[in-house]
Amino acid sequence: MLTVIHLPTHHQTFSGKELTKLIAKLVSLDSNWIPSEPGYSLYIRPTLIGTQAALGVHPANDALLFVISSPVGPYYKTGFKPVALEADPSLVRAWPGGVGQYKLGANYGPGIRVQMEAAKRGYQQNLWLFGEEHWLTEVGTMNLFVALKRDDGSTELVTPPLNGTILPGVTRDSILGLARDHVSKKAPIEGLPDNLVVSEREINMGEIIKASEKGSLIEMFGAGTAAIVSPVDRVGFKGRDIQIPAGEEGAGPIAKAMLKSITDIQLGRVDHPWSVLVEDLL
Ligand SMILES: *Cc1c(COP(=O)(O)O)cnc(C)c1O
Repeated sequence: MLTVIHLPTHHQTFSGKELTKLIAKLVSLDSNWIPSEPGYSLYIRPTLIGTQAALGVHPANDALLFVISSPVGPYYKTGFKPVALEADPSLVRAWPGGVGQYKLGANYGPGIRVQMEAAKRGYQQNLWLFGEEHWLTEVGTMNLFVALKRDDGSTELVTPPLNGTILPGVTRDSILGLARDHVSKKAPIEGLPDNLVVSEREINMGEIIKASEKGSLIEMFGAGTAAIVSPVDRVGFKGRDIQIPAGEEGAGPIAKAMLKSITDIQLGRVDHPWSVLVEDLL
């Protein structure tokens, strides 16, 4: 699907509501490509690129908005496979004043070599740290969640705040929304602790190591559209490995509950304002 947009002012943008309608049309045209087996899906990727026929560094007057759709296979065909992360303080994904909070093609390139290098040492992904205090930011191209047991017996679900170095992923936002609706009892989720506390706050490697030593580090996972959740069972940092419980099935209770809640919404097993029927939009 292709839509050329002419931008008379640099601030004009394309209506999100109209784009949703166009995506509905695309999905209905491509409906034969929608896989029916559980776990498979039609991946939809909107993209916006400048197309002005000129060389030069300046805002584009013409842009092309297009949406790619493709059937994709399941991330977890044979159950969860928790990943090991390498946290290398010499690598930086995003920095204050940079473009880390935007979804750019450039988010992906810099991670590829880093991931290949980590793989040589037995880690599947990179845990991006920031600064001398080793703040945790993201994992590969996913947002990060950590669960900690607190002294009062409650479970704290932590994700780093949107401070400009974090990509505001829709999966991150969905998990926060679902967790908060569970906490407020608006929509309790089976499998989540009753006394859950949801925190958008900074967390650093010092706190992770302390929690691991105390036995209060109970879960860690990445969150992004493709896998939804990606459980972590090990973090390599400064020459040692921190083990993280990943449950008997390879995922902790929070990751498991979130995967189920989100796929239930995606597959229309439950009614939810986030799911839109294609027929209703055509
Ligand atoms: C795409 C992406 C995410 C996840 O965003 P979703 O909208 O949940 O798919 C997280 N971090 C980075 C750097 C990304 O590029």
